Amino acid sequence: MKIIDPHIHMSSRTTDDYENMRKAGVVAVIEPAFWLGQPRTEVGSFKDYYSSLVGWERFRASQFGIKHYCTMGLNSKEANNEPLAEQVMELLPLYACKEGVVGIGEIGYDDQTKAEDKFFRLQLELAKELGLPVQVHTPHRDKKAGTIKSMDVCEEHGIPPHLVIIDHNNEETAKSVLDRGFWAGFTIYPKTKMGNERMVEVVRKFGAERIMVNSSADWGMSDPLAVPKTAKLMLDRGIPKEHVELVCYQNALDAFGQSGQFNENDWLKAETADQTQKYNGNSVLRGQVPQNLEQDNESDIIIK
Ligand SMILES: [Zn+2]
Repeated sequence: MKIIDPHIHMSSRTTDDYENMRKAGVVAVIEPAFWLGQPRTEVGSFKDYYSSLVGWERFRASQFGIKHYCTMGLNSKEANNEPLAEQVMELLPLYACKEGVVGIGEIGYDDQTKAEDKFFRLQLELAKELGLPVQVHTPHRDKKAGTIKSMDVCEEHGIPPHLVIIDHNNEETAKSVLDRGFWAGFTIYPKTKMGNERMVEVVRKFGAERIMVNSSADWGMSDPLAVPKTAKLMLDRGIPKEHVELVCYQNALDAFGQSGQFNENDWLKAETADQTQKYNGNSVLRGQVPQNLEQDNESDIIIK
């Protein structure tokens, strides 16, 4: 089964992760721009980070047979440094228009402050201007209210729900998100908030329409194989294959495909990765022998 992980921070992950993801069926990933665990102090740090999302990281993924896309945005935490956030807003349109950028994200609320609200709204306007989908991060604290507020604000700005992916849902928020016509992303967090057994039950209860699963794997405790593992668990627990394909592949493709930058042919018709390739003179090999990605295609974790 082909898998898309529509929310994963690969810049924080290793090449082993890329290898294991490909073996498990991941064909494409979307990396939302986010914070790095500590606040940036200069606009240049944002610029270099955004450049890496459309540059080196995309190349790195390609070397392991995975197509890499991203969403561009100012994350909610760093919206609270207003003078810096203003400068980032000037930079964003340049990067949001680049090839392979499939939306504005991840944006939304963290502590639900005034500054977060201001920059969320400014970025919704940018998305509207560019006709791009929006990937919304919902807060971990006071989630239900934050989720509802995020949807209200999107509607206030005239963004139609079919262009908005509301992320990090749980059993409490799913119904209102789906009832209002938004896409509902679910993040599988190891050991804490949302395990994949609960995800199976969410799909059993709500069906597969407009639901998508992601790992949100980053520099913290997280699992880059969360989507393929969840697909397998869903099949084992009797969820119909068509539904598993929708929530682990097709819905992400349909939602972010609205950008015009996310096409199945990019990976279906891709050439096999050649690890001797270089990006600005650098390869991923670090002096090692290139792997033949065709050869180790068979694996006991491939879900057929
Ligand atoms: Zn994230």
